Amino acid sequence: MNLHEYQARDILRRHGIPVPPGEVASTPAEARAIAERLGGKVVVKAQVHAGGRGKAGGVKLAKTAAEAETHAKAILGMTIKSLTVQKVLIAPAAEIASESYVGIIVDRASQRPVLMVSPAGGIDIEEVAAKTPDKIHRLAIDPRYGLLPHQALALGFALYGDVKQARAAADIMQKLYGAVYAVGASLAEINPLVTTPDGTVQALDAKISIDDNELERRPDIAALRDVSAEARQEVVAREAGLTFIKLEGNVGCCVNGAGLAMATMDLVKYYGGEPANFLDIGGSSNPQKVVSALRIITGDPNVKAILFNIFGGITRGDDVANGIVQATKEFPLKVPMVIRLTGTNEREGIAILERAGFAALADMDDAVKQAVAKAKGKVA
Ligand code: GDP
Ligand code: MN
Repeated sequence: MNLHEYQARDILRRHGIPVPPGEVASTPAEARAIAERLGGKVVVKAQVHAGGRGKAGGVKLAKTAAEAETHAKAILGMTIKSLTVQKVLIAPAAEIASESYVGIIVDRASQRPVLMVSPAGGIDIEEVAAKTPDKIHRLAIDPRYGLLPHQALALGFALYGDVKQARAAADIMQKLYGAVYAVGASLAEINPLVTTPDGTVQALDAKISIDDNELERRPDIAALRDVSAEARQEVVAREAGLTFIKLEGNVGCCVNGAGLAMATMDLVKYYGGEPANFLDIGGSSNPQKVVSALRIITGDPNVKAILFNIFGGITRGDDVANGIVQATKEFPLKVPMVIRLTGTNEREGIAILERAGFAALADMDDAVKQAVAKAKGKVA
């Protein structure tokens, strides 16, 4: 789960990292009122789950409250990486002397949190990583000991020659590491970490992604979810108790069980097709879940054929069949559908499907081959 910058800034602030104050506005008038309250120069920042806002014109400096209102008007409603800006953050503008990068990610290769810092921070950090990787310093942190003061200080000196600034950066790194654990983050980034002309070090941008598996035990963090900023299909799926991941192909897959769903996707690829999604309707039996699943799959304009692959254990064939019949009554399908249905109550399930004019296959290979052919517009 991704957090907005303003939420990430709050977390960093609570952990003692110096971050300028700020407030969120949904209208230009609100933006103006906040700018008036803050006084002086402000920065108006698009709050969307995407980086590169600066380059996209989603971060603008304003000298007056009236100018803040004008910028907010331009930024609100703007699209950045296919996300619509619904909120802007208004914060006092900082004077920048230098921009660095500080980030922590959970790294699968080293199986550790890795701290990365670079004195070449700011909006071109991706380019720095690609072209001059030696400007990025890395440290895999041993979670048994955490980030030790001397390690943090060494990286502080990789950013700043000045002792005071190096110490301030080291302190921020240790606090960032604490924040990562406290909120269950898989990624936490400060870019830019700036120095101001008077020498102070502060965080001007913050990005935090939470490991979804942590949300169950952190309701305060789970409450930060901004449903309006997420992919519509994934929100609907989560609310319906389905595990859904959107992919780029055209074979819409509806499967019971994560393992079978993975195997189905493998087989779709094996027979030359591309899955449009991963979708696990779960082990429980509930026709409503099938209706929700079909609504999500048919809502994807890329889908050219739908493949049901049900191997009933706890899931009952009749429940799935009832779900399919109910769904196709609610919204008639515009693309072909192939159903493979075996296992618990398969006979009842197949009877229900046949009464409604659908055929069911018993063999997974056959079903996948047919679905792939139909997605390509061929008759299998
Ligand atoms: P991003 O492009 O989505 O990463 O958004 P950032 O919040 O990092 O802002 C992009 C750039 O805008 C930063 O690298 C800064 O150069 C600039 N910027 C952001 N906030 C301020 C500020 O308070 N003062 C000044 N002078 N520049 C800022
Ligand atoms: Mn940034």
